[in-house]
Amino acid sequence: MSKEFDVVVIGAGPAGYVAAIRAAQLGFETACIDKWLDHDDKPSLGGTCLNAGCIPSKALLESSELFHRAQHEFSGHGLEIGDLQLDLGKMQKRRTGVVSELTGGIASLFKANGVTSFAGSGQVSDSGEVLFVDHKDKEQTIKAKHIVIASGSVPTALDIAPFDGERIVDSRGALEFDEVPKRLGVIGAGYIGVELGSVWSRLGSEVVLLEAVDEFMPIADRQIATEGLKAFRKQGLDIQLGARVTSAKANKSSVTVNYTQGDDKHSEKFDRLIVAVGRRPHTADLCAKSVQLELDDKGFVSVNDNFRTSLPGVYAVGDVIGNPMLAHKGMEEGVAVAEILAGQKPHVNYDVVPSVVYTAPEIAWVGRSEAQVKSAGIDYRVGQVPFAANGRAKALGQQAGFVKIVADAKSDEILGVHMIGPYVSELVQEMVVAMEYRASSEDIARIIHGHPTLGETVHEAALAVDGRPIHFPPPRKSSRKKK
Ligand code: FAD
Ligand code: NAD
Repeated sequence: MSKEFDVVVIGAGPAGYVAAIRAAQLGFETACIDKWLDHDDKPSLGGTCLNAGCIPSKALLESSELFHRAQHEFSGHGLEIGDLQLDLGKMQKRRTGVVSELTGGIASLFKANGVTSFAGSGQVSDSGEVLFVDHKDKEQTIKAKHIVIASGSVPTALDIAPFDGERIVDSRGALEFDEVPKRLGVIGAGYIGVELGSVWSRLGSEVVLLEAVDEFMPIADRQIATEGLKAFRKQGLDIQLGARVTSAKANKSSVTVNYTQGDDKHSEKFDRLIVAVGRRPHTADLCAKSVQLELDDKGFVSVNDNFRTSLPGVYAVGDVIGNPMLAHKGMEEGVAVAEILAGQKPHVNYDVVPSVVYTAPEIAWVGRSEAQVKSAGIDYRVGQVPFAANGRAKALGQQAGFVKIVADAKSDEILGVHMIGPYVSELVQEMVVAMEYRASSEDIARIIHGHPTLGETVHEAALAVDGRPIHFPPPRKSSRKKK
């Protein structure tokens, strides 16, 4: 027996579940198929983000940061708490609780919007047809006027350090340690390396990050990356750049990792090793053998500006179509694809996708780095001010970092904003809005910012573009004459 829908979405991560909800809102009879199983073998919606990515990592980042602050900062506030104990079991239970509340929330949203949920795997078997196989291997053909692929991504594996689920783990395994590793190795010092490295370091691990590239966080603005590297090293993260891992061998109790750095050879022994060297598109078994879905040279599903794949009536969104592999980018594409199916003309502005690294200090940016603006030959000005003299940052006891705004020298349009410091994950959103509306730094400079707030540092950075910050001496000379 086959069922028929207007829209069938394969994958219920941020791209897929949002596409399904928006399609249902627009009046399409919609189904969403997802194969994710939690550790009790129960279907769980929300994809990587909710089950093993954004949400559980942020839950542990928060818990571990509180532990760290209780140890190192509470006493400065006059809070003496005596013998602080870590109950990792309870911390992990909180993590799974946060996850299950949110994944359950997606199930409720599906119900409320009339999205039919199928637990199992989906395979595009023909134009307008998906073969659904449930978790008991029962098959069913689902007919669809439109198919949306939102199958996401999976961790990239390394042949020289194969995952064994015990000593050598991916990011999912790294969220689930039941004891704090004494020595933890991490291959890759990207988003996951620094976030999960920070978690376990704050909880007591000696953490070594082995990064192949000579530069730290090449995707970030250079000044931000340099400040971040300094801060993370000061916190005790041993970040080795230009480190090329040649082998990783695990036994019952440890992993030995050999790597080279320049001409030097090194060997390190760890209790656990995380491999976090990027993610790759999840396209395995997505289409029947007879169905030829076009992929690009990196294995991402090729789509046009309207998210159409090479197959008629088949669309794709989220991590599976390419970088940046971020949940909010996928969600926006999910909304857009549903609206395109409804004949609307949505637009995803890829120039203003914010990036956030949830370390302490946090790192956030939107738009182009100073180096990118420079290499594009644009005449630009920079306004940069530290959090050091911000009253709220002082009260929080979190004064590290700065805000840097890069603006076009002629038009004053904001081209990029780069931040490192407290809660910059939240502060960056003001500048996303500003850039979406193509604001100038003068626009921000003339907007009232509440006092005392961290946002005042953004305001001061905008004033600094024009060389007229009030509460900080301008760190760089402005190209414009003083007024
Ligand atoms: P996914 O979330 O990967 O979901 C795809 C879903 O499709 C999965 O449930 C999968 O099981 C299912 N699926 C695949 N194939 C099939 C099939 N054939 N049949 C049925 N189901 C199928 N991003 C952020 O923006 N902010 C963060 O803070 C952040 N933190 C992260 C932390 C970690 C540790 C990791 C690993 C990632 C993090 N990310 C973060 C990235 C974010 O998780 C991804 O960008 C996002 O989940 C991508 O969404 P998606 O819907 O495209 O795919
Ligand atoms: P990443 O691309 O952020 O970092 C991978 C790092 O590994 C890079 O610095 C790369 O140079 C390095 N590397 C690659 N091969 C290597 C090798 N053989 N040896 C040593 N180093 C090597 O990828 P990730 O940290 O695995 O995260 C995957 C993706 O998930 C991210 O790109 C991001 O899109 C998403 N994510 C986002 C957040 C967030 O938004 N806060 C958090 C986690 C993950």
